[in-house]
Amino acid sequence: MNALSGAIDVIDEKTAKILERSDDSWFVPIEIDGELRETLTARGYLYRSEFEEGEVLKKIAKDHDEKAHKIPGRFIFIVTYACNLRCSYCFQGEFMRNNRIMTSSMVDKAFDAISEVSERNGGSVPEICLFGGEPLMATRHQKEIVKKILEDCESKHYPVRVITNGVELEYFLDLITRFDVKNLQVTLDGPKEVHDRRRMFSNGKGSFCKIVRGIDLALRNNLRIELHVNVDSDNIRYLPDLADFIVKKGWLETGQFTPYITTVKNFGCGDYRSCITECELLSELYKMLVNKTQLRIFVVPGGYVKLSDGQYSSSPLPGGYGINCIMSLLAHGKIPPPRIKNCGAQINSFAFDPCGYVYTCGQISGRKEFSVGSYYPKLALDERKLIEWRNRSVLTVRECKSCRMSLICGGGCAAAALSKSGNLYCPQCTQVEENLKFGIGLFLDDIKKVFQEIA
Ligand code: SF4
Ligand code: SF4
Repeated sequence: MNALSGAIDVIDEKTAKILERSDDSWFVPIEIDGELRETLTARGYLYRSEFEEGEVLKKIAKDHDEKAHKIPGRFIFIVTYACNLRCSYCFQGEFMRNNRIMTSSMVDKAFDAISEVSERNGGSVPEICLFGGEPLMATRHQKEIVKKILEDCESKHYPVRVITNGVELEYFLDLITRFDVKNLQVTLDGPKEVHDRRRMFSNGKGSFCKIVRGIDLALRNNLRIELHVNVDSDNIRYLPDLADFIVKKGWLETGQFTPYITTVKNFGCGDYRSCITECELLSELYKMLVNKTQLRIFVVPGGYVKLSDGQYSSSPLPGGYGINCIMSLLAHGKIPPPRIKNCGAQINSFAFDPCGYVYTCGQISGRKEFSVGSYYPKLALDERKLIEWRNRSVLTVRECKSCRMSLICGGGCAAAALSKSGNLYCPQCTQVEENLKFGIGLFLDDIKKVFQEIA
């Protein structure tokens, strides 16, 4: 497989042995000659020189950057850092004690900044996301601020989504239904007892019943719910029970509800020890799937099996890189285009916090030293820091430049790099090769069928 040219080929054992000898270096074994050499060159596995390959890569990176400018910018409003829950794995920790809420004039300045930045980026329509802490806390002042943001989005025709813990959906329902909120991302971590042990209020009481009531009401009002289940070694075995609960509630039948599984991420600011890798998650899931077919309702990182016709479809979720190549091959007959950068934080996203600072990623906000400037009282971006973020790619992180998985991986999470090591240009490897091998092992028979069809 070659992620640069997009080629994927089946070779015999003899050719495999020859190719293995060339490893990742520029050494080309003498046996690679004649027809084999021509085929490898034509399929984009072999270049005459490192320079020639570098030029192809540079061109792809340039096209990538040009296209990126046309993607709508993503602008996150961190309405407050405060939260009404105390989840066991929360990465925001001490920032939660900062209970400032965005003011009305901050919201105005944030929208001014969005217009200015979007114009600079070619005028694409920005996408707005409300995030926190918890953006939907049940206080009159916070509701007023959320109302102002939604009103402004409506008047400017900006699509908006809300990432919420879902506890106060009922309190905000009138607002959310009045304005065109594209979707609500809500979290449930398992059946009641499991969820309540992980996502509790500050008094220790569980949040499950309030969230379920909120989802019921939202779906009854035709809102779109994206349910996220944050999975680690403590709750993975309860996923079938949660799937049973979801099916029994009839949420799937509304056509407005999609349940996703994601892994709990450690951004290096806490000592949470139950995190699992995407590969571990997928391998457990596929083991459980043998007897627990209800798990098929979940969309998982990198792999998704459609229920209706048994066809494969690749997951829209980030993560699971490596296995996503296999899913894409099965679903579309080709592997995904090369990943030069990992995410929008390296392209065109901004987060505005309630202290007046601007960040490139909501997950790293609250640590002033990682901000890329301020938007209040006036927009003052630190262009040097911003350029550092936007330039981070597999072509600029030293270890990624020589990594054979780089164009599948994209260099990993920049926020985690900064948070864990203080160095934005530190690679964040995510077991891409293991994921790829796991995917090949799991779907080998299906992959063979794809090749037979092509042949
Ligand atoms: S982050 Fe690691 S796996 Fe990913 S491209 Fe860089 S060196 Fe390779
Ligand atoms: S920098 Fe990391 S946490 Fe932030 S959006 Fe990108 S992948 Fe997600």
